[in-house]
Amino acid sequence: MNLAILGATGSIGSSTLDVVARHPDRYRVFALTANGKAEPLLELCRVHHPTYAVLSGAPRDAKLAARFAQHGTELLFGAAALEQVVMDRRCDVVMAAIVGAAGLASTFAAAKGGKRVLLANKEALVMAGPLLTRAAREAGASLLPVDSEHNAVFQCLSDIKAVRRIVLTASGGPFRSAPIESLDTVTPAQACAHPNWVMGRKISVDSATMMNKGLEVIEARWLFDVPAPSIEVVIHPQSIVHSLVEYVDGSLIAQLSNPDMRVPIAHALGFPERIASGATPLDLTTMNNLSFEKPDERRFPCLRLAYAALEKGGTAPTLLNAANEVAVAAFLEGRLPFTGIARVIADTLEAVPTNAAKSLETVMAADEQARRHAAAGVLARAA
Ligand code: NAD
Ligand code: MG
Repeated sequence: MNLAILGATGSIGSSTLDVVARHPDRYRVFALTANGKAEPLLELCRVHHPTYAVLSGAPRDAKLAARFAQHGTELLFGAAALEQVVMDRRCDVVMAAIVGAAGLASTFAAAKGGKRVLLANKEALVMAGPLLTRAAREAGASLLPVDSEHNAVFQCLSDIKAVRRIVLTASGGPFRSAPIESLDTVTPAQACAHPNWVMGRKISVDSATMMNKGLEVIEARWLFDVPAPSIEVVIHPQSIVHSLVEYVDGSLIAQLSNPDMRVPIAHALGFPERIASGATPLDLTTMNNLSFEKPDERRFPCLRLAYAALEKGGTAPTLLNAANEVAVAAFLEGRLPFTGIARVIADTLEAVPTNAAKSLETVMAADEQARRHAAAGVLARAA
């Protein structure tokens, strides 16, 4: 199978390449993409020799392209090249692992192209869930969840009609038990120091605010077509139980593994077969404390904001996602206090009108409007 990895230089991208390298007989790396940094992408091309590499955020550079050509790789530039490589008839599987709204167009193109889409880019589903799932259905594309919780749910699902609830687990992030008053002054470094996972900076901050779980509730809503009230979140600080499905007969089925993204990635890559991931097997005899608790709404206001946006429907989740991206970037750059993130999102959801999410264009217009409003909100609440 020919595989394109969108966001190949990121955390999910490198875990994917690690799994793929264990199965050279099954997968050929067809395309690798990154935003702006050429050197890490070139290094990957030296090892994997893809047909194409894409620098989506960089201007054309003939000298650079010549260096890629030495490894048998044609280097393309600009965001449109992302869609070009996923729609190429030779491409069978697409790992959608760009972070944020920047991944929407290419993920959508992969779905429309009827590809097998391994979905890490949850923001695409949050922004345009009904449009993306419909496009995939119509084109015969499969959307296979890579997010560890959704991959766990997918593994636990048998009879969707008999599901009573889906339980998404959350680690609670680095501030689960920090004094609430201290959250005003936490630093980006503290927010990115996740207790169980090493991830990109944006999703690390999302985990600290628990917006990540809010986005995942919306992601689950569209991936599994279950109503929001049937999706519950529990804090499970050990990150061993990745999520659970409860059936009408009272059975609760869980998926467990060490916290290592190569497990869900290998599951999605190999499905319906099982393939080796390289992850260390779980030693049950050392698991003497798996605990579960309710999330504290005062500590994690973003979770409630996400449920509210989902309930409101239309473009509200798009607004939520856009405001979150702007606020998180501002926090990472030291322009907004941590507690300002939820405030900027709440203000944006209140001020920007929600419309029906009729087309990708409507969604992109809502995204744009929310970004403008949130940027002004950041200035007003500057750190
Ligand atoms: P990351 O920051 O480590 O990597 C992001 C990748 O996207 C990089 O290759 C980067 O070059 C590319 N990129 C960034 N901005 C871009 C833009 N504007 N245009 C094109 N490409 C761009 O992020 P990550 O942690 O690997 O996360 C990727 C996605 O996977 C996110 O949607 C995240 O929510 C999801 N996810 C990640 C994890 C994890 O463990 N890291 C777990 C579950 C879901
Ligand atoms: Mg997750």
